[in-house]
Amino acid sequence: MRGVEWVRCSRCAEMVYGKRFARELGVCPGCGLHTRVGAGQRIEQLFDEGSTEPIETPPTVDDPLGFADDRPYVDRLREARLKTGLDEAVVCVRGTIEGHPAVAVVMDFRFMGGSLGTGVGERIVAAAEVALAERVPFLLVTASGGARMQEGALSLMQMAKTSQAMAELDEAGILTVGVVTDPTYGGVAASFATLPDVLLAEPGAHIGFAGPRVIKQTIGQDLPEGFQTAEFLRDKGLIDGVQPRSALRSTLARLCALGSPESGPAPGSGPAPGSGPVPGFELGSETGSVFGTGTGSAGTPEPRASGLILRPEELPVRNGWTAIQLARHLGRPTTLDYAGYMLEEFVELHGDRLGGDCPAIVGGIGRLDGVPIVLVGHQKGRDTRERVERNFGMPTPAGYRKAARLMRLAAKLGRPVLTLIDTPGAYPGIEAEENGQAWAIAENLRLMSSLPVPVVAVVTGEGGSGGALALGVADRVLTLSNAVYSVISPEGCASILWKSGAEAPRAADALGLDARELLGHGVVDGVIPEPGEGAHTDPARSAQLLGAAVAEAFGELAVHDPKKLVAERRRRFRRFGSAPR
Ligand SMILES: [Zn+2]
Repeated sequence: MRGVEWVRCSRCAEMVYGKRFARELGVCPGCGLHTRVGAGQRIEQLFDEGSTEPIETPPTVDDPLGFADDRPYVDRLREARLKTGLDEAVVCVRGTIEGHPAVAVVMDFRFMGGSLGTGVGERIVAAAEVALAERVPFLLVTASGGARMQEGALSLMQMAKTSQAMAELDEAGILTVGVVTDPTYGGVAASFATLPDVLLAEPGAHIGFAGPRVIKQTIGQDLPEGFQTAEFLRDKGLIDGVQPRSALRSTLARLCALGSPESGPAPGSGPAPGSGPVPGFELGSETGSVFGTGTGSAGTPEPRASGLILRPEELPVRNGWTAIQLARHLGRPTTLDYAGYMLEEFVELHGDRLGGDCPAIVGGIGRLDGVPIVLVGHQKGRDTRERVERNFGMPTPAGYRKAARLMRLAAKLGRPVLTLIDTPGAYPGIEAEENGQAWAIAENLRLMSSLPVPVVAVVTGEGGSGGALALGVADRVLTLSNAVYSVISPEGCASILWKSGAEAPRAADALGLDARELLGHGVVDGVIPEPGEGAHTDPARSAQLLGAAVAEAFGELAVHDPKKLVAERRRRFRRFGSAPR
């Protein structure tokens, strides 16, 4: 057996025929080990065949310091070039992934450990500038031990230079996607590698700032199992997901499609005056809009495809406690159910990029009626096991911070935001308090009041207190007909004001928390009728009605520029408490 034909897995020692190993994209079929692949191979795996062309980079200085250790740096460079056939530790190309244009920088660990020097920094920035000029998604596949020592402080400066290139892409609303591969460390991890909007990692990849050996030596402690692996970082909310190599191409294609500026409204700017309808949005006729102005047809509003109810008198008067029971029905569709029914190409994103991924708030990007939107919602879970895993839909601060991250992404990309509200309340717990639950909720209220994109919130079940409102500062607030929205749970209210939890039904009635009351007080702008006995009896139909109502609302909001949107939204919330005139 010759080495060329057979490959031995370094982890499980399985012998794999070379051609099969290549077909498996360098992943061991025995144990799933994702071996390191070179930049050229990676580009072949990700891009459409024959679609790539190199990105021109201006010439760079090879050895700015005249550095030598036991050998001159120039000799090491020459050797790396001979060994890899590359001129630097990164390859930059433009091309298409399943037909969607992208600009990519792909690092190669074989070239001096993928280290970041002036040549690498220069190439990355040149590629970012092409993505900026052509307005196409920017993809970074990283593999690096860190900054290149042989270039001293000039190497350190590449961290700032590449990060500011990422900032320029953010300001321009260009989607950035990172694939962190094994290993990504030091100055690369602490700059462009971890800044992208969406961060994916390959299974088992090691990512961090300081290497495990340094940490161990410094603190003199054993490191936890799986320390710095992709899976570990996902659980800590630092990356969006772990993706096997075989799934990367299709995920990246989907993200590039959703992030492409042509597939939605202009980033962060809305339509320019006189530029006409935003492509992809179905606009409500101006006179047909029953929201906002309060004038117009005094008679019956135009019937809507969604059947949205705008007058409280069209809803039955009912007991608050009955409403509560229906709103809490265990069979009600969850946010992920709605995503599955309503959205095409939904990609769930994870983590607050600070320290946690709260399972009680979910979110991601997908298409509603062909238009890319960002969805964020509470997630209660369907069966007992999932409900426990999801903490019964009670978010931690990490959940609210994840929501904030996704809403900022929506603002950056100019995508409308849909939030689905269904929580008994924010999680009351020690850790939640330690991590700033109140701060996280307050931050979302402020953030949502400034988002320069259309925001629609729908209460789909229990709208419990500040933990619900933290997703509820929207241009249009709708509710399903059996949902409730309240400042406190009836049980909580009863035990405080009536000094007895048993008085919860009385409290439920007094709080005015059902759809008719909410619409009457203008807390919600419209009520989406539920089919049959409630959403739980026909989740598919519920999702259809919800989707239609949301699409209508987005259509009406799309005509406004961001300044007007924000001003109207603030007016909407400013009016609560004014005496009727
Ligand atoms: Zn193996």
